[in-house]
Amino acid sequence: MAGLEGTECRTRGCTGADGITVLTDLQIARYSRQIILPSVGGRGQQQLLSAAVAVAGRPEMARVAAVYLAAAGVGQLFLIGEDRAVCNDLETLNPDSHVRGVGWPLTDEAVDEIVRQSSAVVCADASPATVARLGTRCLAVERPVLIGRVTGAVGEVALVGGGQREGPCFECFSQTIAAIRAEGADAPRAHNAETAIDVVLSGVIGGFIGTIIATEVIKLTLNLNSTLAGRRLTYGALSGWMSVDDIMPMPNCPVCGSREIGGTGTGADAP
Ligand SMILES: [Zn+2]
Repeated sequence: MAGLEGTECRTRGCTGADGITVLTDLQIARYSRQIILPSVGGRGQQQLLSAAVAVAGRPEMARVAAVYLAAAGVGQLFLIGEDRAVCNDLETLNPDSHVRGVGWPLTDEAVDEIVRQSSAVVCADASPATVARLGTRCLAVERPVLIGRVTGAVGEVALVGGGQREGPCFECFSQTIAAIRAEGADAPRAHNAETAIDVVLSGVIGGFIGTIIATEVIKLTLNLNSTLAGRRLTYGALSGWMSVDDIMPMPNCPVCGSREIGGTGTGADAP
Protein backbone atom coordinates (compact mmCIF):
# COMPACT_ATOMS: atom_id res chain seq x y z
CA MET A 1 0.00 0.00 0.00
CA ALA A 2 1.26 3.44 -0.92
CA GLY A 3 0.74 4.92 2.55
CA LEU A 4 2.55 2.08 4.25
CA GLU A 5 5.40 2.31 1.71
CA GLY A 6 5.71 6.04 2.44
CA THR A 7 6.03 5.36 6.16
CA GLU A 8 8.70 2.73 5.48
CA CYS A 9 10.69 5.17 3.36
CA ARG A 10 10.58 7.87 5.99
CA THR A 11 11.92 5.62 8.71
CA ARG A 12 14.22 3.17 6.93
CA GLY A 13 15.14 4.89 3.70
CA CYS A 14 14.64 3.78 0.12
CA THR A 15 15.12 4.94 -3.45
CA GLY A 16 12.26 6.49 -5.38
CA ALA A 17 11.16 5.60 -8.90
CA ASP A 18 13.41 8.38 -10.29
CA GLY A 19 16.49 6.81 -8.66
CA ILE A 20 16.73 9.62 -6.11
CA THR A 21 17.06 8.77 -2.43
CA VAL A 22 13.92 9.36 -0.34
CA LEU A 23 14.81 11.22 2.85
CA THR A 24 14.09 9.48 6.15
CA ASP A 25 12.86 11.42 9.17
CA LEU A 26 16.33 11.02 10.70
CA GLN A 27 17.95 12.44 7.56
CA ILE A 28 15.55 15.37 7.49
CA ALA A 29 16.65 16.17 11.05
CA ARG A 30 20.35 15.49 10.31
CA TYR A 31 20.48 17.81 7.29
CA SER A 32 17.93 20.38 8.44
CA ARG A 33 20.50 23.19 8.37
CA GLN A 34 21.19 22.43 4.70
CA ILE A 35 17.61 21.66 3.70
CA ILE A 36 16.42 25.10 4.81
CA LEU A 37 18.88 26.75 2.41
CA PRO A 38 17.18 27.85 -0.84
CA SER A 39 20.10 26.48 -2.88
CA VAL A 40 19.70 23.01 -1.35
CA GLY A 41 16.18 22.22 -0.14
CA GLY A 42 14.86 18.69 0.24
CA ARG A 43 15.44 17.90 -3.43
CA GLY A 44 19.05 19.07 -3.25
CA GLN A 45 19.72 16.92 -0.20
CA GLN A 46 18.25 13.95 -2.03
CA GLN A 47 20.60 14.66 -4.95
CA LEU A 48 23.59 14.77 -2.59
CA LEU A 49 22.62 11.47 -0.99
CA SER A 50 22.23 9.94 -4.46
CA ALA A 51 25.60 11.25 -5.70
CA ALA A 52 28.77 9.18 -6.03
CA VAL A 53 32.17 10.87 -6.11
CA ALA A 54 35.61 9.38 -6.71
CA VAL A 55 38.58 11.08 -5.04
CA ALA A 56 42.22 10.48 -5.95
CA GLY A 57 45.32 12.30 -4.84
CA ARG A 58 47.48 13.47 -1.96
CA PRO A 59 45.93 12.92 1.48
CA GLU A 60 46.23 16.54 2.70
CA MET A 61 43.93 17.63 -0.12
CA ALA A 62 41.95 14.49 -0.97
CA ARG A 63 40.96 13.66 2.61
CA VAL A 64 39.82 17.20 3.34
CA ALA A 65 37.64 17.14 0.22
CA ALA A 66 36.26 13.74 1.25
CA VAL A 67 35.49 14.88 4.80
CA TYR A 68 33.39 17.80 3.60
CA LEU A 69 31.64 15.71 0.96
CA ALA A 70 30.75 13.10 3.58
CA ALA A 71 29.59 15.79 5.99
CA ALA A 72 27.32 17.24 3.29
CA GLY A 73 25.76 13.80 2.84
CA VAL A 74 27.24 12.64 -0.46
CA GLY A 75 25.97 9.07 -0.57
CA GLN A 76 28.96 7.25 -2.05
CA LEU A 77 32.65 8.01 -1.97
CA PHE A 78 35.36 6.05 -3.74
CA LEU A 79 38.72 6.88 -2.18
CA ILE A 80 41.49 5.81 -4.49
CA GLY A 81 44.52 4.41 -2.70
CA GLU A 82 43.03 4.75 0.79
CA ASP A 83 42.79 1.88 3.27
CA ARG A 84 39.79 0.63 5.19
CA ALA A 85 40.67 2.57 8.36
CA VAL A 86 40.35 5.93 6.59
CA CYS A 87 37.07 4.83 5.01
CA ASN A 88 35.73 3.71 8.39
CA ASP A 89 36.59 7.07 9.94
CA LEU A 90 34.58 8.86 7.27
CA GLU A 91 31.62 6.53 7.68
CA THR A 92 31.72 7.24 11.41
CA LEU A 93 31.54 10.94 10.58
CA ASN A 94 28.40 10.38 8.53
CA PRO A 95 26.77 6.94 8.35
CA ASP A 96 24.80 8.04 5.26
CA SER A 97 28.04 8.11 3.26
CA HIS A 98 29.17 4.72 2.03
CA VAL A 99 32.92 4.98 1.64
CA ARG A 100 34.94 2.48 -0.35
CA GLY A 101 38.68 2.32 -0.73
CA VAL A 102 39.97 1.53 -4.20
CA GLY A 103 43.26 -0.36 -4.47
CA TRP A 104 46.41 1.16 -5.87
CA PRO A 105 47.84 1.09 -8.51
CA LEU A 106 44.72 1.56 -10.59
CA THR A 107 44.03 -0.97 -13.29
CA ASP A 108 42.36 0.11 -16.53
CA GLU A 109 39.28 -1.86 -15.45
CA ALA A 110 39.19 -0.02 -12.13
CA VAL A 111 39.42 3.37 -13.90
CA ASP A 112 36.51 2.42 -16.17
CA GLU A 113 34.40 1.18 -13.27
CA ILE A 114 35.10 4.12 -10.97
CA VAL A 115 34.29 6.70 -13.62
CA ARG A 116 31.18 4.80 -14.73
CA GLN A 117 29.79 4.70 -11.20
CA SER A 118 30.71 8.27 -10.26
CA SER A 119 28.79 11.46 -10.90
CA ALA A 120 32.04 13.45 -10.51
CA VAL A 121 35.74 12.63 -10.21
CA VAL A 122 38.24 14.56 -8.11
CA CYS A 123 41.98 14.61 -8.86
CA ALA A 124 43.38 16.27 -5.74
CA ASP A 125 47.04 16.82 -6.59
CA ALA A 126 47.12 13.38 -8.15
CA SER A 127 50.10 12.55 -10.36
CA PRO A 128 49.94 13.83 -13.95
CA ALA A 129 49.62 10.24 -15.17
CA THR A 130 46.63 9.58 -12.89
CA VAL A 131 44.99 12.87 -13.87
CA ALA A 132 45.45 11.99 -17.54
CA ARG A 133 43.97 8.49 -17.14
CA LEU A 134 40.97 9.58 -15.09
CA GLY A 135 40.47 12.77 -17.10
CA THR A 136 40.56 10.95 -20.43
CA ARG A 137 38.01 8.43 -19.22
CA CYS A 138 35.80 11.21 -17.82
CA LEU A 139 36.01 12.94 -21.18
CA ALA A 140 34.88 9.77 -22.94
CA VAL A 141 31.76 9.36 -20.81
CA GLU A 142 31.13 13.06 -20.10
CA ARG A 143 31.82 13.07 -16.39
CA PRO A 144 32.98 16.29 -14.76
CA VAL A 145 36.46 16.25 -13.26
CA LEU A 146 37.77 18.55 -10.53
CA ILE A 147 41.50 19.12 -10.67
CA GLY A 148 43.38 20.49 -7.65
CA ARG A 149 47.07 21.28 -7.46
CA VAL A 150 49.49 22.85 -5.01
CA THR A 151 52.99 24.02 -5.84
CA GLY A 152 54.80 25.72 -3.00
CA ALA A 153 52.45 28.39 -1.68
CA VAL A 154 50.19 28.45 -4.75
CA GLY A 155 47.02 26.39 -5.03
CA GLU A 156 44.76 25.86 -8.03
CA VAL A 157 41.33 24.38 -8.68
CA ALA A 158 39.73 23.82 -12.08
CA LEU A 159 36.50 22.14 -13.12
CA VAL A 160 36.41 20.52 -16.53
CA GLY A 161 33.03 19.44 -17.92
CA GLY A 162 29.73 19.31 -16.16
CA GLY A 163 28.88 22.98 -16.55
CA GLN A 164 25.76 24.44 -18.05
CA ARG A 165 27.81 26.42 -20.52
CA GLU A 166 30.07 25.24 -23.29
CA GLY A 167 33.62 25.09 -22.09
CA PRO A 168 36.92 23.40 -22.73
CA CYS A 169 37.03 19.63 -22.80
CA PHE A 170 39.71 17.79 -20.83
CA GLU A 171 42.00 17.83 -23.86
CA CYS A 172 41.59 21.61 -24.30
CA PHE A 173 42.27 22.10 -20.60
CA SER A 174 45.37 19.89 -20.51
CA GLN A 175 46.95 21.43 -23.60
CA THR A 176 46.17 25.01 -22.57
CA ILE A 177 47.62 24.60 -19.08
CA ALA A 178 50.69 22.82 -20.47
CA ALA A 179 51.25 25.68 -22.93
CA ILE A 180 50.87 28.31 -20.19
CA ARG A 181 53.46 26.55 -18.07
CA ALA A 182 55.85 25.98 -20.97
CA GLU A 183 55.78 29.72 -21.76
CA GLY A 184 56.41 30.58 -18.11
CA ALA A 185 53.29 32.71 -18.28
CA ASP A 186 51.76 31.43 -15.07
CA ALA A 187 51.98 34.75 -13.29
CA PRO A 188 51.04 33.65 -9.77
CA ARG A 189 53.71 30.97 -9.80
CA ALA A 190 56.32 33.34 -11.19
CA HIS A 191 55.67 35.71 -8.30
CA ASN A 192 55.75 33.01 -5.67
CA ALA A 193 59.16 31.37 -6.01
CA GLU A 194 59.25 28.40 -3.70
CA THR A 195 60.85 28.99 -0.33
CA ALA A 196 61.04 27.07 2.92
CA ILE A 197 57.89 28.75 4.18
CA ASP A 198 56.10 27.69 0.99
CA VAL A 199 56.83 24.09 1.82
CA VAL A 200 55.42 24.57 5.32
CA LEU A 201 52.35 26.25 3.88
CA SER A 202 51.70 23.67 1.18
CA GLY A 203 49.91 21.28 3.55
CA VAL A 204 47.63 24.05 4.78
CA ILE A 205 46.96 25.24 1.24
CA GLY A 206 46.20 21.65 0.24
CA GLY A 207 43.45 21.62 2.86
CA PHE A 208 42.13 24.95 1.58
CA ILE A 209 42.08 23.71 -2.01
CA GLY A 210 40.42 20.47 -0.84
CA THR A 211 37.66 22.56 0.75
CA ILE A 212 37.11 24.49 -2.49
CA ILE A 213 36.98 21.21 -4.43
CA ALA A 214 34.29 19.87 -2.08
CA THR A 215 32.34 23.12 -2.50
CA GLU A 216 32.49 22.81 -6.28
CA VAL A 217 31.36 19.16 -6.21
CA ILE A 218 28.41 20.11 -4.01
CA LYS A 219 27.43 23.01 -6.33
CA LEU A 220 27.76 20.69 -9.31
CA THR A 221 25.55 18.07 -7.66
CA LEU A 222 22.95 20.71 -6.85
CA ASN A 223 22.97 21.87 -10.51
CA LEU A 224 23.92 25.40 -9.51
CA ASN A 225 25.16 27.49 -12.43
CA SER A 226 27.86 29.25 -10.42
CA THR A 227 30.50 26.54 -10.59
CA LEU A 228 34.07 26.92 -11.81
CA ALA A 229 33.16 24.99 -14.98
CA GLY A 230 35.70 25.85 -17.67
CA ARG A 231 37.69 28.07 -15.32
CA ARG A 232 40.71 27.87 -13.08
CA LEU A 233 40.89 29.46 -9.63
CA THR A 234 44.40 30.29 -8.44
CA TYR A 235 45.34 31.24 -4.88
CA GLY A 236 48.73 32.63 -3.92
CA ALA A 237 49.03 32.28 -0.15
CA LEU A 238 52.08 34.50 0.38
CA SER A 239 50.41 37.59 -1.04
CA GLY A 240 46.82 36.54 -0.38
CA TRP A 241 46.20 36.86 -4.10
CA MET A 242 43.34 35.03 -5.81
CA SER A 243 42.13 35.00 -9.40
CA VAL A 244 39.75 33.10 -11.64
CA ASP A 245 40.69 32.64 -15.30
CA ASP A 246 38.66 31.27 -18.16
CA ILE A 247 40.19 28.34 -20.00
CA MET A 248 38.95 28.76 -23.52
CA PRO A 249 38.03 25.83 -25.78
CA MET A 250 40.67 25.34 -28.49
CA PRO A 251 39.20 25.82 -32.00
CA ASN A 252 41.56 23.12 -33.29
CA CYS A 253 41.03 20.69 -30.39
CA PRO A 254 41.21 17.12 -31.74
CA VAL A 255 38.37 16.12 -29.39
CA CYS A 256 35.88 18.99 -29.32
CA GLY A 257 37.20 21.36 -31.99
CA SER A 258 34.51 20.48 -34.49
CA ARG A 259 31.62 21.35 -32.20
CA GLU A 260 29.92 24.70 -32.20
CA ILE A 261 31.12 26.80 -29.31
CA GLY A 262 28.25 28.77 -27.85
CA GLY A 263 29.85 30.67 -24.97
CA THR A 264 32.52 33.33 -25.03
CA GLY A 265 34.05 32.39 -21.69
CA THR A 266 32.86 35.60 -20.09
CA GLY A 267 30.55 33.89 -17.63
CA ALA A 268 27.30 33.73 -19.60
CA ASP A 269 25.53 30.46 -18.97
CA ALA A 270 24.28 28.50 -21.91
CA PRO A 271 20.53 27.85 -21.92
ZN1 LIG B 1 38.58 20.19 -26.53
